[in-house]
Amino acid sequence: MPIQPRLDAAALAERMADIKPAFSPQEARVEAARCLYCFDAPCIASCPTGIDVPAFIKKIAVDNVTGAARTILEANVLGASCARVCPTQVLCEGACVMLDLEKKPIEIGRLQRFATDHVSERGIDVLPAPAATTGRRVAVLGAGPAGLGCAAELARLGHEVTVYDKKPRGGGLNTYGIAYYKMRPEVSLAEVELIERLGVRFRFDCEVGRDIAVADLERDCEAIFLGLGLGGVRRLGIPGEDLPEVLDALEFIEWIHTRPLAEVPVGRRVAVLGCGNTAIDAVTQAIRMGAEQATVIYRRGEAEMSAYGFEYELAKTDGAAFLFHAVPVAVLEEAGHVSGLRLARTEVRDGRVEILPESEWTEPFDMVLSAVGQEKQAGLLESLFPGLELDRRGRVVHDPATMQTSLPHVFAGGDCTSGGREVVNAVAEGKKAARAIARQLTGEQPADVGCGPVQHSRHGVAGGPTGSGFEAPVRVHELEAALGVRLTPS
Ligand SMILES: Cc1cc2nc3c(=O)[nH]c(=O)nc-3n(C[C@H](O)[C@H](O)[C@H](O)COP(=O)(O)OP(=O)(O)OC[C@H]3O[C@@H](n4cnc5c(N)ncnc54)[C@H](O)[C@@H]3O)c2cc1C
Ligand code: SF4
Repeated sequence: MPIQPRLDAAALAERMADIKPAFSPQEARVEAARCLYCFDAPCIASCPTGIDVPAFIKKIAVDNVTGAARTILEANVLGASCARVCPTQVLCEGACVMLDLEKKPIEIGRLQRFATDHVSERGIDVLPAPAATTGRRVAVLGAGPAGLGCAAELARLGHEVTVYDKKPRGGGLNTYGIAYYKMRPEVSLAEVELIERLGVRFRFDCEVGRDIAVADLERDCEAIFLGLGLGGVRRLGIPGEDLPEVLDALEFIEWIHTRPLAEVPVGRRVAVLGCGNTAIDAVTQAIRMGAEQATVIYRRGEAEMSAYGFEYELAKTDGAAFLFHAVPVAVLEEAGHVSGLRLARTEVRDGRVEILPESEWTEPFDMVLSAVGQEKQAGLLESLFPGLELDRRGRVVHDPATMQTSLPHVFAGGDCTSGGREVVNAVAEGKKAARAIARQLTGEQPADVGCGPVQHSRHGVAGGPTGSGFEAPVRVHELEAALGVRLTPS
């Protein structure tokens, strides 16, 4: 049977509602008042964009919410989306000293959302006007978080930037791929408009390599930034995978972002293949969209899955089932539609997955979502930029200090260099590349247009370039050891 939409608009609005509702002004002030405004705050060091967390929280506490938003957006122009999508549990909130005091960490993400929503809802532009134009031109390929982070910083420094993207709208996965209950596409699109107001030009529906040649970009611009992200999900390579109800999980998630929710078809019994964060997003959204049963199938064990623990817990709470040590060997068909999966048991020996002989069985499913990992854009990159060095996993080789690639006029950042991390990493890398590009174009160290990755350690604990200078979240006892002083009450 073909799959179809299962719930009406009212039910879907409720089931797909924000997972972390916005703070009221009263709640925000009370939460802000809990912050200790720490000495060399570890929450700053753990934010890849180096947002001065205690500074913006203090501004909320004294009712200067616009000022708080400015502190956030100067460091991270995608502060509104990061407030919703960042895995704060393993970044700023995971580093909050409150945990050492055995208290609930400050809800930094929700406070950040409160401040950025305040200015966005009121149409207040908090970023200062860009510097006088330099007349230097840069092409940014890809309007995802990396491209946007790069374009915004270059524009603020006075350079002329044009962003090219093959999609009809900007934002990359922020607009098309993030779980709907974490962030609506409108939030991401408002950020694209904010960056447009900084003077950045956008050319959408423009696929580089098809609608515009790299040679044309190289003739018109002095530098190029690559923020092309990753490709689609890898093929499964099993019989039946071309049946209409076998989908790349990203395609299913994109349907949710581009169609009225009540028109998105979903199976009754959904299988999700893979066990990373994309699989978890897919299974959770399938259930919320009306699937009666949804099972994540993973060829390794629970301990080896790459999904964050808190995402796993969310999926289980939503009713997802997990089948570990199993692999699909064929998609079963009935009258041209998916009717199930033939599965086999696996065992992991010396790190390798082996299929156990004679262990096959079948399970009924009417939809299969594949989330077995996104492909790298290696083929595309090699054809667009002959001579661009890629590593053996297809990632763009770059200097981590500048994001410059093996081609001196080409810089890169985001998923195409990392192989797939978080939105906040992509923004930070785009921004870092922008500053290196500006230095190459003008021969001068660009003036600070905000804090973020160029912020100097306020106390010089480890002498690094961001926050406290530590590269990872720092706990209080580690700070105490580094400083040789006691910071917590005994
Ligand atoms: C399902 C899913 C859920 C996720 N959830 C989270 C989350 O909750 N929190 C989080 O922090 N991170 C999450 N991530 C990761 C995050 O979305 C990425 O790390 C981030 O979007 C990377 O940004 P990017 O700019 O490098 O790439 P992308 O966001 O992929 O943007 C790349 C852009 O390049 C464009 N492009 C590609 N090829 C061409 C071409 N030839 N010509 C023109 N344009 C082109 C694409 O259209 C796209 O707009 C998730 C990822 C996925 C897949
Ligand atoms: S670590 Fe926690 S308490 Fe300290 S400044 Fe950051 S948010 Fe506030």
